[in-house]
Parts: sequence; C-alpha cells; structure tokens
Amino acid sequence: MAEISIRNVAKQFGDFTALHSVDLTVADQEFMVLLGASGCGKTTLLRIIAGLETPSRGEVWIGGKRVDHLPPRQRGIAMVFQNYAVFPHLTVFENIAFGLRMQKLPRAEVDRRVTRTAELMHIGQLLKRYSGQLSGGQRQRVAVARALAMEPDVILMDEPLSNLDALLRLEMRAELKGVLAESKTTTIYVTHDQVEAMSLADRIAVMDKGRIVQAERPIEVYRNPAARFVGSFIGNPPMNFLPAKKGANGSWRVAGVTFEGPRAEREEIAFAIRPEDLSPSEGGLPAEVRVVEPLGPHVLVTCDVEGHLFRAVLDSDIVLSRGDTVKLAPTPDRIRWFDPETEKSLQHHQ
Ligand code: ATP
Repeated sequence: MAEISIRNVAKQFGDFTALHSVDLTVADQEFMVLLGASGCGKTTLLRIIAGLETPSRGEVWIGGKRVDHLPPRQRGIAMVFQNYAVFPHLTVFENIAFGLRMQKLPRAEVDRRVTRTAELMHIGQLLKRYSGQLSGGQRQRVAVARALAMEPDVILMDEPLSNLDALLRLEMRAELKGVLAESKTTTIYVTHDQVEAMSLADRIAVMDKGRIVQAERPIEVYRNPAARFVGSFIGNPPMNFLPAKKGANGSWRVAGVTFEGPRAEREEIAFAIRPEDLSPSEGGLPAEVRVVEPLGPHVLVTCDVEGHLFRAVLDSDIVLSRGDTVKLAPTPDRIRWFDPETEKSLQHHQ
C-alpha cells in the first residue's frame, strides 16, 4: 500500500511563499497529475515529496509512514525529473540497470527488467549505446525506463515527456498510462500540459500560485471548474465568461438574454460556458463574428459579445463571415456561474 498524504505543507524561499498550505491525499495506485502554469509550485511540491527539498511546515506521509525527515532513498520512491540524470559514461543498459544492481538483484532478473522497460520506451535497439551519444529525447526515455525498472511503489515524474516530439509524446503517453496501471504504482506526475493531464490522470490537482485549487477527476475539473482560473486554464479554447446582472425572480441577464441561475446576494456574477457548448439558435446570445477558423471537424468562431471576447466551436457546415451577427445558445445544463470577487464556482460542491 502506498498512499501518499501531504498535510498542511508550506514552503518559503526567503520572503517568497512558493507553497501556501497544501493538503492532498493520493490513493494507493492512483495516477495524480499536478497541473498548473509555470511557477505555480508544482516542482517544489514534488521535490518536497521526494525529499530533495525540506518543507517550511507540514508533513509528508507515504504508505502510512511519516517520511518528511527521511532522506530520499529511504522513501521507497523512484523519480524522473526534467534534468533526467543519465550517466553519459554508461551504456543505456547499464543506466537502466543501475538501481537494480545497487539492490543486488539476480542477473536474470536485471536482464528481464531492463529488456522489458527498454522495449516499452522504444529504446530496445539502443541498449549497447553510451548515453552520451543519445539525443535529449532518447535520454529522457532512458530516465523513465530506469525508474520503471525499479518497480517502485511510488513514482514521481516531472515533465518526463517534455523533450519528445509531438507524435512520440502521444504514443508514449498512452503507453506510460498502460504500464503504470499494470505495475500498480502510485504516481504523481507534474505537467503544464493540460491535454497530457486530462489523458493520463485519475485525478488532476490544479495548482495556482502555490495552492491546489481543485483536485478531482479530469471530467469533473473540465465540466465543473471549482474556480474561474480552472475554467480558463483547462480547455483549448478556454471557457467563456460574461457578466451577468441580477434580473427579476432570481434570474440573471447576460447580454440581454435571461437565464435561470444560482441564488446570490450580489448584483453581478459571472456567467460561463465552454465554446463547444454553444449552438446557433434564435434567442441565443448576440455575437458579432470577428474571426472564423476551420479546424477540420469543427469551426472555431471568435466573436464579440457586448465588448467581451467570446469563442464558439461550431459544426463545420456553418457558413459565417467576419461582421456577421449570430445568436449563440448555450446548452442549459452546461452553464456555470462564478462569484466575481472570490472567483469561486457558485455551484461547486467542494
Ligand atoms: P515550472 O513549470 O516552470 O517548472 P513550477 O510550477 O514547477 O514551474 P516551481 O519550480 O515549483 O514552479 O517554483 C515555484 C516558485 O518558487 C517559482 O516562483 C520559483 O521561482 C520559486 N522557487 C523555486 N525554487 C526556488 C529557490 N530555490 N529559491 C527561490 N525561489 C525558488
């Protein structure tokens, strides 16, 4: 069992707070992705779990044991970091075998694990090569293979696919997911790539400025952002937001259209809808077309709604040009509402 529990962890660098009070529990065998913009504290949190950084406050527990005072090698974890430390003077085989030799595993077992993980990472043909003679992407795969070969209870990865080209990244993403599920490893995976996060994660912990804003299943995070930040960070194009003014009988007026909405003490809140949850229909929001971009299966239409940027992903058969006015009706159960000051969802259950 390797549940990871992060309790009230904070990190100061001088007078800069990199992590506020972070609480997160990753279940045994769960694949948790830490997602957020550059500088939000993802790597710092991962390094604290790994033992490469000391928290200013709080506790880290792995497998029911408090580990924040233990050195990295006593925490039972394998790591793959951005600056994957692959030894250039060793062959690929020896690099992958490194940790296994330290554990004094029988030779046949070392061979088996190295061959298997190398095949998995598409570097089976490079086993005799010196790592100094590899490309950055190949070295990165050696680092992932070395971690997987340890068959650890916990694996921590920081952008392990960042040096791969787009196609290989896609392929490896799917394979990594399969391998980690099969190996029953508990994984924490750092990325700023939301597509990678959506596709890999059992749950995504979205971080913003040293805080976890939401930690839920990818579809929940996508459909029901806990905060406006999550809606605008996840999804490409991002969620649309418009001001909503209080109308009669608990209704809200958005660009001249009336919607049923949440009860709120405020005179104005934010209405939100994802671009793919709009369709042209009488009675919809009046949108003036600015740019039309055919994307193959869909067309991305960038509009202006009462001075606000507003995007719709529509059926590719639609004929629209710049300057046209189109009425865009939101799918009712996909409308979301946010508080303008706290920026938190007015519907969210957390
Ligand atoms: P990226 O995706 O760019 O790697 P990140 O979310 O992983 O970003 P961190 O590396 O965790 O971000 O850094 C969080 C913040 O803490 C940043 O503002 C960074 O500049 C700061 N920081 C990190 N390490 C140190 C340090 N050793 N001393 C001072 N500030 C630091």
